[in-house]
Amino acid sequence: MLKLISKKTFKGGVHPKEFKELTEHKVLEKFPEPDELVIPLSQHSGKDAIPLVKKNDKVKVGTLIAKEDGFISAPIHSPICGTVTSITKTFTFAGIQKSSIILKKDGLDEKDFLPPLDFETVSSEEIISRVKEAGIVGLGGAAFPTYVKLIPPPDKKIDMIILNACECEPYLTRDYRLVVERTEDLIKGLKLIMRASKVQRGIIGIEDNKQEAIELLKEHLVNHSEIELVVLKTKYPQGAEKMLIKAATGREVPPGKLPLDVGVIVQNVGTAISIFDAVVNGIPSIYAYLTVSGLGINEPKNLIVPIGTSIEDVIEYCGGMKENVRRIVIGGPMMGYAQFDLSTPITKAVSGILFLTDEELEVFPETNCLRCGMCVSVCPLNLTPVRLVRLIQNKRFEEAAILNVALCMECGTCAYSCPASIPLVQWLRLGKKWVFQNRFN
Ligand code: SF4
Ligand code: SF4
Repeated sequence: MLKLISKKTFKGGVHPKEFKELTEHKVLEKFPEPDELVIPLSQHSGKDAIPLVKKNDKVKVGTLIAKEDGFISAPIHSPICGTVTSITKTFTFAGIQKSSIILKKDGLDEKDFLPPLDFETVSSEEIISRVKEAGIVGLGGAAFPTYVKLIPPPDKKIDMIILNACECEPYLTRDYRLVVERTEDLIKGLKLIMRASKVQRGIIGIEDNKQEAIELLKEHLVNHSEIELVVLKTKYPQGAEKMLIKAATGREVPPGKLPLDVGVIVQNVGTAISIFDAVVNGIPSIYAYLTVSGLGINEPKNLIVPIGTSIEDVIEYCGGMKENVRRIVIGGPMMGYAQFDLSTPITKAVSGILFLTDEELEVFPETNCLRCGMCVSVCPLNLTPVRLVRLIQNKRFEEAAILNVALCMECGTCAYSCPASIPLVQWLRLGKKWVFQNRFN
């Protein structure tokens, strides 16, 4: 097979060691139902869902257990057959206490799915309504309710859907596995998104380190002339929406604007598969697709896990963790969240759990800024991280706001390349928090 190398990319970015070889050939495994699940009512951007069940209620696989609260919110369904034992506060992976529904399994396998719809004839309105009803959220990280993205404001003319298959974070391979294992379903998922949004053109953007997936997509796209495969250079953060749009189409999303301002909607691979399953198979969003990896876990895997499963249960299924684990991260190593509690439940948009050792973390003590300018040259959004951080450290938040700290997407590229190991993203987050709290623009 001739390796396809691409030069299409964006300005800035970095090339962290990939570690994808740990799991890229590991087929997605269905995780066995745990005895108990903790289902947070906050699994998405926007308002928490409202519980529809109470203690001792019986539920089936797929039963609606919490409804959405307003426009930006999403319903939640039970991933198992069992009983509600309580509704109580637990920690989410972001370290925030939220109400959760606790379910205990009863060992039965009764299903309460939605009625399947016909792929050939389902209408735009039916797809949007199904995506909303199934509680589908963006699986690329932000967990934004997907149905909202499918109905852009009337003054925005959308002419293109981009399916984001970049998966640029090191270690993560769950999107890659979905492309390889479910190629046809993925293309159908993209076509459902195009039909829902009444858009004629689709693009699949993928990095050139995923050759097997590229070959499969090429084969399957032969009869789908409305979808173009665009191969992009492997570089972090190639999968960030603005970087992806620029590299794949040449369109530039202006600062402070959204993809729909340049006529584009971006959806993640996992989201497209979830849409396919919800529409064609009637399955609501009850599973998380994730990569379990890092040198600190005994058996790295790709898994399909019922939402609400604890990190602890996943560790046990993956053969236990090694003694030299320094940090456990939910998500990728660049943008993920470090964990302090192994009972933390997995939610819909969790893409990975990483068990990182000293060998991988390469932690050096923080020193004074060397004024090397690396952080500035790698920032894909042309921000000046060193300057912003100095202003924030000195509580000069208004000036940081004028220099656009609010635009920072917290990709971690600057911190990764800083030779002084300054925790730039933590400072930038603090600056952004101040800006949003004070509504200073
Ligand atoms: S974290 Fe923010 S400042 Fe740093 S590289 Fe990413 S966008 Fe730029
Ligand atoms: S990369 Fe680090 S050391 Fe270099 S200028 Fe930026 S903050 Fe200073």
